[in-house]
Amino acid sequence: MNASANYIGRFAPSPTGPLHAGSLVAAMASYLDARAHGGRWLLRIEDLDPPREVPGASAAIIDALARLGFGHDGPILYQSTRDAAYRDAFERLRAAGHVYPCACTRREVADSALQASRDRQRHAELVYPGTCRAGMPAGRAARAWRVRVDDAPIAWHDRRAGAATERLDRSVGDFVLRRADGLWAYQLAVVVDDAFQRVTDVVRGADLRDSTARQIHLQQLLGLPTPRYLHVPVLTDASGNKLSKQTGATPIDTRRGVEALNAALASLELGERIDADSPRRFWPEAIARWARSPWMGRHAAAPTSPRPA
Ligand code: GLU
Repeated sequence: MNASANYIGRFAPSPTGPLHAGSLVAAMASYLDARAHGGRWLLRIEDLDPPREVPGASAAIIDALARLGFGHDGPILYQSTRDAAYRDAFERLRAAGHVYPCACTRREVADSALQASRDRQRHAELVYPGTCRAGMPAGRAARAWRVRVDDAPIAWHDRRAGAATERLDRSVGDFVLRRADGLWAYQLAVVVDDAFQRVTDVVRGADLRDSTARQIHLQQLLGLPTPRYLHVPVLTDASGNKLSKQTGATPIDTRRGVEALNAALASLELGERIDADSPRRFWPEAIARWARSPWMGRHAAAPTSPRPA
C-alpha cells in the first residue's frame, strides 16, 4: 500500500483501568502503522459498559497517551454518546430479520454448549445452540438479542497471520448484540464506529483476532466496508496469561515514559532501544523503523468494498 492520506487507523481502549504495558503495545502498533502510512490516527474511548468502567480511567488513559507523545487526530469519540447509532444499526438488522430475542440465561447456554461440545468431541466453547432461534419457549421472556449466523465460511486476511477462515456457526453460533442488561455488545458498537469513523486499518492485540469474523459478518449484514486487519502479539505475564487491567497489570509510569515506550518497541521486535531524552523525540525513529519492518509489507489487498461517498 502506498503511503496514503486515505489511511485511517484508531486506538480504541475500554476504560476498565489505566494504560498498562499490554495496552501500550496495541496503542503503539496502531499509531506507528498510521504514521508510517502518512495516515490519520483516531482515539475512541469504548465506554459502552458502565458496570465494567473504572471511574477516572478514560481521563487517565488520555492523559498517559498525551504524556507519551501520541498525538491523535480529530476529536475523541466516546461510545457513550453513540446510543442512537447503535440503535439504528440494530433496528435495521431487526427489520431484515437478522436478529431475534433470546430467553436463555448464561448458565443455560453454558450447559447446552458443553453438552454439544462433548457430543462433537471438541473443546468446550460457548457455542450458542440456537435454542431461541425459531422462537422463545412458551412463558419465557426476552433477555438478550442475538444475530443469526450461518454455515458460510467467513474468509479474511490478517496482515500478520495471513489468510483465515471461520465458520461462525461452529465457533460461536448466533451471538449477542444487545445484552440482557440492555447494553449494546462490543461487536455491534465496534463495527458501527469503525465504519462511522471510516477506519481503513484496524491494528490491535491478537486477543481480538477471534472477534474479527463476527465483525465482518455484521459489516456484511449492514452493508459496511471491511477494513484491513493486523493483530499484533499481546504481552503475557509469567504464567502466560494476557496482561490486562482485569489481572492487575500495573499502570504505565509516564515519568519514565521513554522506558515504557522502549519496552513496547521491544515487544514489537523493532530493534535496539531508542535513546531519546523525551517521549516526543522517541517517535520519529520508531516510525522510521516500523516503515522498514515486515509489519509494513504484510498488506492484503485494499478493503473489500468501496467506502460510501
Ligand atoms: N475496546 C477494546 C479493548 O480495549 C478494543 C477494541 C478494538 O480494538 O477493536 O480491548
